[in-house]
Amino acid sequence: MAEYPVTLTEVICFGVDALLFGIFYKLYRNSKKASEAVKEAPIVEINEYLKDSIKATHAQAIPYAIIKGTVRAFKQALHSHNKPNVRGVVQEVVLKEHQIKWSWATRWWLETEREISRSKNYVPFLLIGKKGRIYVQDPLEAKIINLTTISDKFEPSVSGFGEAVWGFFTGARTQGFQETEQMLLEGTMLTGIGRLAVNKTGDVCLQPPAKGLYYFLTQVPESTLIKNLDVDTNFLKVMSVLCGVVGAAILINVVKKMINEHKKEKAIKARKQILAELISDRSRFSNTEINTQAPPCVICLANPREVVILDCGHVCCCADCAQNLSTGCPICRQPISQFWPAYIS
Ligand SMILES: [Zn+2]
Ligand SMILES: [Zn+2]
Repeated sequence: MAEYPVTLTEVICFGVDALLFGIFYKLYRNSKKASEAVKEAPIVEINEYLKDSIKATHAQAIPYAIIKGTVRAFKQALHSHNKPNVRGVVQEVVLKEHQIKWSWATRWWLETEREISRSKNYVPFLLIGKKGRIYVQDPLEAKIINLTTISDKFEPSVSGFGEAVWGFFTGARTQGFQETEQMLLEGTMLTGIGRLAVNKTGDVCLQPPAKGLYYFLTQVPESTLIKNLDVDTNFLKVMSVLCGVVGAAILINVVKKMINEHKKEKAIKARKQILAELISDRSRFSNTEINTQAPPCVICLANPREVVILDCGHVCCCADCAQNLSTGCPICRQPISQFWPAYIS
């Protein structure tokens, strides 16, 4: 690839960078659109007029709204596995294995954890307002559910001598298992952000909004949520700009190299032309006109010295031999930038 000013590494780097830029920019656009939609979403109160006001809309729905209420199970609530008197509507149990692993990079045993299983469960529930209630549809589709930790147990694993020796040689030893149970408890004040519509049974329900908008069920106030979304959006923006800058730098470098290559080619062409003119000029003179007193070309020892080598300034060879100089000036070895006709008289 010597004749191309672009190297394979540059092509790969530019390709990866362009791909990352595309991903980050798309995520940034989506995140910006989603957080702007949350900022613009109306705060709707749960009251006796809500159903009629939704029915009065053209689409029979409020496409994106913020609504607040207290969580209550529609029928039977879920009971905590670990504390049966604790009741909620969403339950998540995560089981993790804690290991210590030998790290060749740090030459030390490092603590690591690995998720073994994650199970989520829910029962239909309502958000209760001062003067009414709404159903929450598909809560597991919501982006954030701030759950309350009910229990966080760690069971150390009892390993025998054999297992310890095995662990020593394999470079991984299990320390124990951690089980975390989290729930969305009844009585929690919850903010829901999604689509409000009237379902088939005539009840107002909160449901996942249109594609591209986030469905939220969260215990944090919407101002905190917007702040968090802005942090995410800004991070994605910074990453997009960074990828853009890296891509631009690669492109500028390639363009610079192409310009240099073009200049070099132009100089070589000019050099060739100067030498060709010198050779044709020589044939126009008779041998008698050639200065026979001047020392001959140091390479062929036959023709007269006809060219000045730039930048060093040596006058040491004829135009014929100058055409074949590739390693630099035959006297001082300096690189050749140009030839110039030398007229010795
Ligand atoms: Zn010569
Ligand atoms: Zn020289």
